[in-house]
Amino acid sequence: MSIKRKLLILFLAFTAIPMGLVGSAGYYFAQKTIEKNSIAQLGVIADLKVEIIETVFENLKSRMAIAQDYYNIKKNLPLVAGYLDDREAPEYLQAERMLDGQLKAWKKVREVVDFMLVGPDGRIAYAMSERHKNEDLGAPLPDPGNRAFEEGKKGIYYGEIFRNRAEDGRFGMLLTAPVRSGDEKELLGVIAIEVDMAPIYRMIQDTSGLGDTGETLIGKKVDGQALFLNPLRHDGEAALERTVSFGSGQAYPIQEAVSGRGGQGLSLDYRGEEIIAAWRYMPLLGWGIVAKIDASEAFAPVNRIRGITITVAVLALIMCVMAAYALASTISGPILELQKGTEIVGRGDLEYRVGSDRKDELGQLSRAFDCMAESLKKTTASRNELERSNEELQQFAYVASHDLQEPLRMVSSYTQLIAKRYKGKLDEDADEFIGFAVDGANRMQRLIQDLLTYSRVDRGGRSFETTDMGEVMEQAKSNLQAAIEESGAVIKNGKLPEVRGDRTQLVQLFQNLMGNAIKFRGERPPEIDVSSETGGKDITFSLSDNGIGIEPDYFARIFIIFQRLHRREYAGTGIGLALCRKIVERHGGRIWLESEPGKGSTFYFTLPAG
Ligand code: ADP
Repeated sequence: MSIKRKLLILFLAFTAIPMGLVGSAGYYFAQKTIEKNSIAQLGVIADLKVEIIETVFENLKSRMAIAQDYYNIKKNLPLVAGYLDDREAPEYLQAERMLDGQLKAWKKVREVVDFMLVGPDGRIAYAMSERHKNEDLGAPLPDPGNRAFEEGKKGIYYGEIFRNRAEDGRFGMLLTAPVRSGDEKELLGVIAIEVDMAPIYRMIQDTSGLGDTGETLIGKKVDGQALFLNPLRHDGEAALERTVSFGSGQAYPIQEAVSGRGGQGLSLDYRGEEIIAAWRYMPLLGWGIVAKIDASEAFAPVNRIRGITITVAVLALIMCVMAAYALASTISGPILELQKGTEIVGRGDLEYRVGSDRKDELGQLSRAFDCMAESLKKTTASRNELERSNEELQQFAYVASHDLQEPLRMVSSYTQLIAKRYKGKLDEDADEFIGFAVDGANRMQRLIQDLLTYSRVDRGGRSFETTDMGEVMEQAKSNLQAAIEESGAVIKNGKLPEVRGDRTQLVQLFQNLMGNAIKFRGERPPEIDVSSETGGKDITFSLSDNGIGIEPDYFARIFIIFQRLHRREYAGTGIGLALCRKIVERHGGRIWLESEPGKGSTFYFTLPAG
C-alpha cells in the first residue's frame, strides 16, 4: 500500500471514528435530555390543569353546600314548587322575588349559566336565568334518565357534560344537591346549577407551552370506552363524539388516564401520531386528562442538532481527507521525485538533479541524493580516466614486451656467441663482463616473457568452458616435473571439481602457486596440499605448503606486479602472484592467503562452479 493511501486511512481512522462516536453520543444524550425535559414539562402542565379544573369544581361544590342551607331557599322552594302551575299567583311571585334577590351573587359566577330549584316531583320550579324562566319552568332537568335529579336528592352530584343543541350547541354540565327541611327530615327539592363548559374548555385547551402540535384533553370512561369530552386540536368535533376502545393501539394515554392511572412517556395519540405525553386521573370528576405534544415537534431540535452534526462531520471529514491528501502528497511527492531521480541516474544520466528546496528531512534527503549524484559523476569521470590510462599502460606493456623480444633475442644470442667464441681469449675481466651480459640478457628475457604473459591474460585469453580441475592439476604437476623431483616435493590432493574457465590460464594459476610453494621451501622437503570446498555458486580452492611463510604485513604487496620479498636467494621476476590474481579476477573470483613465517602458507582462491 502506498504511503499516501496509508496516511489517508490513518487520518480517517483517527478523525472519522472519534467524530462518529462523539456525534452519536451527543445525539443520543440530546434526545434523551429533550425527551426527559418535554415529559417533565408536560407533567407540570397536566398537574397544573388538574389543579385548575378541580379548583373550579371544588369552588362550585362549596358554594352549593352553602346554598343548600340558605333559609331563603328552604322557605321558598316549597312555595315555587307548590304554585308552579299557577305562576301568576302572588305566593309564587313573592317567593320568586325573594329567591332572585338571594341569588344575585350567583349571576356573577362566570362558569354558572343558571341556578335552578327542582321540586320533589322533578320539575323545575324556579330558574335564575330569564331565558329558562320563560322556556323551562315546569319541565324536568335536561338530563338523560333524570339522573341528575335522582342523584342530587342523595347528595352533591356532578352530572355528565352535555351539549345544548337548542342554545348554540354550547357544552354544559349540571351540578345537583338536595335541599332538606330545617329538621332534615323532609326533602324539599333539589338545587341544580348549570355549568358553562366554555371557560373550562378554554382553560383546558389553552396550548401555552405546548408548541404547534401539543394540547391537553379530557376524557371519561363510558361503556368500556374512553370518550373525549372536549374539542380536540386536530378534531374540532370530538367532544362527546369521539371514543377510543380500551386495548386499542392508539390514544393509549387517555385510555390509561380514564382508567384511573397516571403516567408519562412516548406513545401514540388518537391520530396514530407519535407523541410525548403525560396523563393524570381526576378522582373528583372521574375524568382523565392528557397533556401531549407531537414527538416530531418535541424532537425537532434534536433533528436540527443531528442535521448540524452530520453537516459539520461531513465538512470536517472532507477537510480531513483534503488535509490528509495534501500531507500525503507533500510526503510522497518528493519520494516519487527521488525515485524518478534514482532511476534516471541509474540509467546513466549523471547530470540529473532532483533540486529540492524543501526545508524538511525529505529536502535534506533530496540534497544528499544530488550530492551523491555529483560525486558519482566525479568518480565515474576519474574511473573512466583511470580505465583509459590503465588500458594505455597495458597496451604499452604488451607492445613493449612484445617488440622488445626480438632485439633482446639478438642481444642474448650474440652475447652468448661472444661468450662461446671469446671465452679465455681476452682478459679475465672481459670474461666476467661477458658473463654478466649473458646473465642480464637471460634475466631480461624472462622478465619480458613474464610481462608478455601477464599482458595476455585479458587480451589473449580463451573463452570459458567446463574444465576438470583434477586434469588441470595433473598438467601443472607435469610442467613442474623437474622441480618436484629435484626438491623431493610431496603433493597431495583429493578429488577436484569442475569449474567454468580458461583451461590454459587455470594450469598457469596452479603452476605458479605450486611453483612458489616449492621455490619458497624451508629446510624440509616441500609438502603441498590441494583441496576444494563448494559453497553456493563458487568453489574455494586452497593450496597449502610448509615453506618459509610470509609476514602478514606483506600479504597485500605480494600480489602487486614486480613486488618480491626476496632478491638474491630465490630466483624470480615478481610477476607470478600478480598473474595469479589477474587470472582469478578474470574468472570473477578472488585470491587471498593465510600464512605464518617459518610454518607455511595457504593460498585460497575462488572460481565459478562448472
Ligand atoms: P617471484 O616468485 O617471482 O618472486 P611472485 O609474484 O610469485 O614472484 O611472488 C612474490 C613474492 O611472494 C615472492 O618473492 C615471495 O617472497 C613471496 N611468496 C610467494 N609465494 C610464496 C610461498 N609459497 N611461500 C613464501 N613466500 C612466497
